Amino acid sequence: MTGTISTTQMKHALEDLCNTIEMEKNYLSELDGAIGDGDHGVNMAKCFREVKKTLAETQANDIESLFKSVGMVVLNSVGGAMGALYGTFFLKLSQETTGKTELNLNDLVRMFQTAEKGILDIGKAKLGDKTLIDTLSPAVRALEKSERESKALPEALANFEQAAKEGMESTRKMMARMGRASRLGERTIGHQDPGATSCYFILRSLALVCSYD
Ligand code: ADP
Ligand code: MG
Repeated sequence: MTGTISTTQMKHALEDLCNTIEMEKNYLSELDGAIGDGDHGVNMAKCFREVKKTLAETQANDIESLFKSVGMVVLNSVGGAMGALYGTFFLKLSQETTGKTELNLNDLVRMFQTAEKGILDIGKAKLGDKTLIDTLSPAVRALEKSERESKALPEALANFEQAAKEGMESTRKMMARMGRASRLGERTIGHQDPGATSCYFILRSLALVCSYD
């Protein structure tokens, strides 16, 4: 296993994430319009605009404080279930990075395992329920596999991104069993899940962390 990630690189990845969510706002709301109430892009963009302000002002010079400040904003600024789910995600990432200014692949595995567990604990969704878990869990499994195989960090992150993408796409054939979309039952089959899609954008931005100086 080779390579590390700095606080500055992680801050760049989080800024890229805020810009991506803004760019994909309409797409996320369209996906939610097909099987939900059409507000997912609006909810996410509102939240990540606040995150962007926080990142511009933050004095955080370690990874724990960076993720903690993001998590607190997300928890308080996204309406409904997503605030709690994604807020928990970032707070759990922070919990595993206490005092760290650099991360290696082992750190990333622990961080994403804890974040996944946090979301499973509060959301109670299972793999195959057509939620963001169908993006997150395969990505975390891919990261664990890279750790076992002692992959270099860039390759591990590329595999993580690829698994997240395939997970997101796999939601098209699933029937929603959680949240608002579950009310539509079989009519949700054939549509990609909005939360699985926003989760892919989050993981893709984080996977790009190695590409910054
Ligand atoms: P709302 O359903 O309140 O309108 P959003 O539209 O912002 O919220 O988010 C919908 C997304 O939330 C879904 O596409 C799904 O991926 C995700 N989701 C819903 N319930 C859960 C849950 N219990 N666990 C994980 N993700 C969930
Ligand atoms: Mg919605």
